[in-house]
Amino acid sequence: MVSRTMADYEALALAGCKAINEPAFWAGYDRASASGFYDYFRQITEYEPKRAAKFCIDHYCWLCINPKEAEDPGLAREVIALIPEFLKKPNVLGIGEIGLNKNSKNELAILEEHIQLAADHDQLILVHTPHLEDKLKGTKLIVDALKNHSEIAPGRVIIDHVEEHTAPIVKDAGFWAGMTLYPESKVTPNRAIDMLEMFGSDQVWMNSACDWGVSDPLSVPKAGLEMRRRGYDDDFIDKVVFQNPKAFMGQSPRFTTS
Ligand SMILES: [Zn+2]
Repeated sequence: MVSRTMADYEALALAGCKAINEPAFWAGYDRASASGFYDYFRQITEYEPKRAAKFCIDHYCWLCINPKEAEDPGLAREVIALIPEFLKKPNVLGIGEIGLNKNSKNELAILEEHIQLAADHDQLILVHTPHLEDKLKGTKLIVDALKNHSEIAPGRVIIDHVEEHTAPIVKDAGFWAGMTLYPESKVTPNRAIDMLEMFGSDQVWMNSACDWGVSDPLSVPKAGLEMRRRGYDDDFIDKVVFQNPKAFMGQSPRFTTS
């Protein structure tokens, strides 16, 4: 969790967190060169696992150039060329969070190249979908791009930031659906539980936004508490909070958390 302090790791450990998976994401500013990404990949494959281990948390990560910075295809291709070397690191689960930000042609071209990279190296995929008015169109474009690659099994892809209007598109196509929780904006813990009640608890996970904006690493445990308030039993909460993510990530031989 490069954007977080040790206090957040400690709070997660105290809340019972056993493992973290950290997607490669935007740093709050656009990096000036591919060497900025090289150092970032070293940070999330070498240094963050050691920070997490201090609190007995297993740390996993995903690699890519995020959709926001993929608007520069020259830079994006230089970054993609760095990735195969880092796929050998023991905490890397796959390619992500790839996807779209503004649904531009450049973003779509780089999304395609990331999907091919995942196919070539038999990697799981974690996908970011755009926010607000771009979400519906972006989700459809992403689903079509993934379906065009017959070698990509939908069950090995999680499409994140689903909302009420996009979750059925994702789930009906056989992909996993991710709900990223924020304290106030976007999907809150309560709204995520409402969605579970609408769409069921199969092939879905919740994750806590831990970015550079207003976000809360304890969003998932807080959603667990809210499920308890609504009367869900331990088995249901365990399935959504722990077993589902474990089943998805366990498709990678690198994932060893039990
Ligand atoms: Zn995202």
